[in-house]
Order: sequence, then C-alpha cells, then structure tokens
Amino acid sequence: MISLLGISKEELKDIVLNEFYEKSCRVTQILKWLYEKKEFEIDKFTDLPKKFRETLQQKFKIFTLDLVSKEKSNIDGTTKYSFKTYDGYNFSAVYIPKLSRNVVCLSTQIGCSIKCIFCNSGRVDFVRNLDCCEITEQLLRIAKDVGKIDSVLFMGMGEPLLNYENLIKSIKIFLYPEGLSMSKRKITVSTVGVVPNIYKLAEENLGIKLAISLHSYDDNKRKKFVKNLKFSIKDILEAGIFYAKRTKTKLTIEYVLIKDENDKEEDVLGLIRLLKKLSKDISIFKINIIPYNFIEGIEFFSPTEERINNFKKILINNGFLAFIRKPHGSDIKAACGQIGF
Ligand code: SAH
Repeated sequence: MISLLGISKEELKDIVLNEFYEKSCRVTQILKWLYEKKEFEIDKFTDLPKKFRETLQQKFKIFTLDLVSKEKSNIDGTTKYSFKTYDGYNFSAVYIPKLSRNVVCLSTQIGCSIKCIFCNSGRVDFVRNLDCCEITEQLLRIAKDVGKIDSVLFMGMGEPLLNYENLIKSIKIFLYPEGLSMSKRKITVSTVGVVPNIYKLAEENLGIKLAISLHSYDDNKRKKFVKNLKFSIKDILEAGIFYAKRTKTKLTIEYVLIKDENDKEEDVLGLIRLLKKLSKDISIFKINIIPYNFIEGIEFFSPTEERINNFKKILINNGFLAFIRKPHGSDIKAACGQIGF
C-alpha cells in the first residue's frame, strides 16, 4: 500500500479523475486535510463522500514511519525525533525552536555515501534513499506535535542532491498553496557539492536556498575531509554561484571549523582569495562558520572561541557576510553532524 504523503498534486489529480471518477475539487480537499489541517485519518476527511473515503483507505495509508523516541534538549529545547522505517532502519529529524520561527532539519537518506570524516552520519554506511513520503512525513509528524513549521533545512542525515527526485517532489509538496504553503526562501538544501544536480536544481527554478558545505579553499585539504566526491572546489563553487544568480538568492557557504585543521589565518585568507576570484560581487555569499561539534571517537576538536571569532572577523573585514552557527541540541546529539543511528 502506498502513502498519500508521497503523491504529488498532479498524480493525485490523475488518480481522482481517472481511477475513482471523482471531481477534481477532491484533490484540493485531500491536500487541505493532510497539509493544512494535519488530519491523518482518512475517515475523518468529513467533506469527502463516505464511499470515496473508503476507497481511498483501501488504496492508501498515510504514515509509514514509527516514532521510536523523542528527546528534548535541556539547553535550548531542540528536539530530536527518531523514526523507524517500514523496513527496519532508524533515522532522525530535528526540531529547532527559534525566537521568531519554528525550524526543522530533515534527513534525506539512510546513511551517507560521501563519508565526511568529521560527520557522524558519514559513519553510517549508505543503505537507501528516503522516499518522498518518508521525507514529507518527518515534517508533518513534527508539525502535528509543535505547530506551524516556518523553515526547513535539508541538513539531516544523507546527501540531499543524491536523492534528487524525492527531494524535489517533497519540496514541491511543501510549497503547495492549498497545503503547508511554505515560503520558498525558507527552504534550504545543503549539499557537499554534487555539481550536475546543483545545475539541475537551478533549472527547476523553485527559488529555494542553497548551502554548500565547503570546509576548505584547497582541494587537497578538502579531499582529506570529504572522502567520496569527485568534484573540485572550483567546479562546486561555480555551480553554486550560477545557482545563486539564477534564483536571485544568496549562496550560503558552510565551513566546519576544526582546531588546527582548517582554522588558521592562511585558511581564511585562502577562502577569501578564492571567493573573490570566482565572483566580483561578494555580497552573493553568506558564510556560516560551524564550530566543530564533538563526536565520540573522532579525533577533532573545536577551535578556541578567540580563533573562531578571529576567523569571522577577517571575513567581515574583507567585506563578507559571516555568521557563527550556534549548536542546537548538542546534549542530545542533534547538532550539525551529530545525527547518526
Ligand atoms: N550532506 C549535506 C547535508 C548535511 S548538512 C552536506 O554535506 O551539506 C550537515 C552539515 O553539518 C554539513 O555542513 C556538514 O559538513 C556539517 N557537519 C558535519 N559534521 C559536523 C560536525 N562534527 N560538527 C559541525 N558540523 C558538522
């Protein structure tokens, strides 16, 4: 049985018209129940004829995931939701309550094939892509629990651009005006740099934001961090700049700052040189410095606060927009890079 949450509006319309011989307005009614009212029992879709509800129930289910645990951070209220898939795999999504908005961080794959050496998700061997319904369900389960979600980050387990079709389908669902009606600028896809799919994403023209996990200006250094990716830094950044121009968005550069590995002055100066060489207009970049989050068994450390601030200061003094990303939920292993099995 398939889940209604993995079905696009067009597919639903086709089914409603050509399989059930129902009116096309049923499509909007179903989308509203699921995504606006967050009603997950088909039987309670009360403005649909009873017979039609029964047929829908025979063909579709809604949830496919079991909620295994829910852990809330004592530091900042960040909550990690751990789910189990129908075929027995665990993965997590994270809810981050911010002052002005509710943010969720979603996973796109079980395990990750890229294997960045500082990332806990990279230690989980790649198993499979999450289906569109599994991606969408993460958001809906959290929304049902905490209320309206304003912002989505595809920064959980996995490499979103290696699960391209399911990613795009779920983003389109999040944007439906008769459903969650999310704002396109409040959805961010983070990628390690799957170049062809960055161009493909630009052509979709969805207007969502892109973040690139860069971590170094130097290919040899980056190869040490990011194991299984064949694209060069230059190719990745050129694709990212193309994306930003095409969609009129800023390109976020994520830089995990690790003590003595990529936190020296030569590293930040190298980054500045490279970005200035690739784009005359440096206001298209937004640099997010992510101080390394502790992971057991990995021999890396976060730099001192002084060094982190200095890295940022040099960027700012050179005209760049730069921020230090605060960890969310580090006590429950929910911060960047900490999500594992
Ligand atoms: N695969 C995608 C999506 C993951 S996003 C990507 O690489 O962009 C998760 C972010 O957390 C990435 O920027 C990743 O590099 C970063 N990260 C991984 N391990 C980390 C750690 N130990 N501390 C801080 N950030 C980390």
